[in-house]
Amino acid sequence: MKAYTYIEKGKFALTEKQKPTLIEPTDAIVRVTLGSICTSDLHIKHGSVPRAVPGITVGHEMVGVVDEIGEKVTAVKVGDRVTVNVETFCGECFYCKHGYVNNCTSPHGGWALGCRIDGGQTEYVRVPLANQGLNRIPDSVTDEQALFVGDVLATGFWAARISDITEDDTVLIIGAGPTGICTLLCVMLKLPKRIIVCEKSEERRRFVSKHYPTVLLTTPEECNEFVVKNSDHGGADRVLEVAGAPNTFELAWQCARPNAIVTIVALYDENQTLPLPRMYGKNLTFKTGGVDGCDCEEVLKLIEEGKIDTTPLITHRFPLNEIEKAYRIFENKEDGVIKIAIHN
Ligand SMILES: [Zn+2]
Ligand SMILES: [Zn+2]
Repeated sequence: MKAYTYIEKGKFALTEKQKPTLIEPTDAIVRVTLGSICTSDLHIKHGSVPRAVPGITVGHEMVGVVDEIGEKVTAVKVGDRVTVNVETFCGECFYCKHGYVNNCTSPHGGWALGCRIDGGQTEYVRVPLANQGLNRIPDSVTDEQALFVGDVLATGFWAARISDITEDDTVLIIGAGPTGICTLLCVMLKLPKRIIVCEKSEERRRFVSKHYPTVLLTTPEECNEFVVKNSDHGGADRVLEVAGAPNTFELAWQCARPNAIVTIVALYDENQTLPLPRMYGKNLTFKTGGVDGCDCEEVLKLIEEGKIDTTPLITHRFPLNEIEKAYRIFENKEDGVIKIAIHN
């Protein structure tokens, strides 16, 4: 089968590999029907994910059909259409039991697929701890509708959940890339009084105003002033920082009103400064970290009910054998790309 493989820093290539087989009784083999490319795949390509293992198949966003299951897999059966979770987790350790599956202490735990073990930009993938890692897709939900459930949409859902948003709040979301838009969709479910999206790309601002016309839009340069003008208490009640640009952490806490919650979803390339003397008296609460991807069933239900629709994010579609071209477009943000679906 064909597999898009991490050869070495700076180089991915489509190679020929054996179809994976079950190793543990908790494994499942999934026939990938649709996958996608994530910014984290580019981080691997650029060598900024040291734990990524050369030789592995990349890709951690995918849906497919269960092809084989180990004897301890009970959550899904052969033939089920499923979403694959970006995180591998045991469901049994202290962290899993508290919903902090990102911190699962299993040796397989965390981001394994398409990083430490073979991932999904291929035809078949072995999913460890499949009882936790797979969720059945409801019959009325298409593969494209379910494609982002295990990764970017899980991230947006988690970010909105931990931000404790109320209907009185003005929520500022910084960044309208794929994760920013997924975050926006999940914030909208909380029905806050106002949502402001700050995005530097005019193309992406146009995308937001076209699809979500009730959202207020601003640019990083005008954000501070705009938020003061368009909020009730001199700043945003909730700030979700999804951009991860060099100055967006500072922008996030500056735009927050006193006693606000600032949720950091972004993954930065550099250390960030927390200038405590300058923010003294602002009494902010910061929430940081990586997605706890344990709400996939709930997210699938919301998609089934028509409350979340991420299909407008799929701007491009390519077959697996044209994945190099897809990466070129995604990496260079050509042609208005938001997300690319890779089909088999
Ligand atoms: Zn990802
Ligand atoms: Zn665990």
